[in-house]
Amino acid sequence: MSFEALGLHTSILKALTEAGYTKPTPVQEQAVPAALQNRDLMVSSQTGSGKTAAFMLPALHKFALAEQQLQPGTKTPNQERQSVRARGERPRFQPAQPKMLVLTPTRELALQVTTATAKYGSYLRRVRAVSILGGMPYPKQMQLLAKNPEILVATPGRLIDHMESGKINFSQLEILVLDEADRMLDMGFIDDIEKIVEATPETRQTMLFSATLDGVVGNMAKRITKDPLVIQI
Ligand code: AMP
Repeated sequence: MSFEALGLHTSILKALTEAGYTKPTPVQEQAVPAALQNRDLMVSSQTGSGKTAAFMLPALHKFALAEQQLQPGTKTPNQERQSVRARGERPRFQPAQPKMLVLTPTRELALQVTTATAKYGSYLRRVRAVSILGGMPYPKQMQLLAKNPEILVATPGRLIDHMESGKINFSQLEILVLDEADRMLDMGFIDDIEKIVEATPETRQTMLFSATLDGVVGNMAKRITKDPLVIQI
């Protein structure tokens, strides 16, 4: 099995070749084709299995297709803001409207996911991932959110603060990922997660990754996914 055979966009294949990836890992082989068909996923897999690419590659593929459909010459959000400034106007505050949200238990994992996304998406023009983390200064986060990134990678607590102060709106959200869901529950994030999930559209695609799918995490997974493909690695 090759990445080409999974049907990924050429811009992603190019980035994977540059990253030195020659073939998909077992979790990628199962998760990518299903996610490309918009299936929800419940995946039991460990760190090191290649789970980040398992959810990020199909998401980036969809963003690559959406980019392709834009009219040539369409401005990127950054270019749009620059032309507003060039006209001497102040850009109006608008909440960030991400298309994808990845929830992680820790800052470290969030930063790893953001770095991996930049690598896999290096040939996409408009797609940008930013991390929203506890402990990061607010002005810096406001700057990041003002760029209206397509992809947010966040720890639950800090994300709730921004949601409640109107800085983020999830009405355009297409893809929700819970990474290391069991650890997020162990850390006491269940109420925050429920609140965040409730703020997202019912039509979203949901992918949940966890070391185990038993007990509380399994119940939550079933509640927030629809007809999921269950993958046990
Ligand atoms: P993860 O489980 O997502 O934390 O990934 C573990 C490590 O495997 C990371 O360093 C990735 O860059 C690497 N990796 C993921 N998928 C592949 C692949 N298909 N081929 C080679 N390395 C990979």
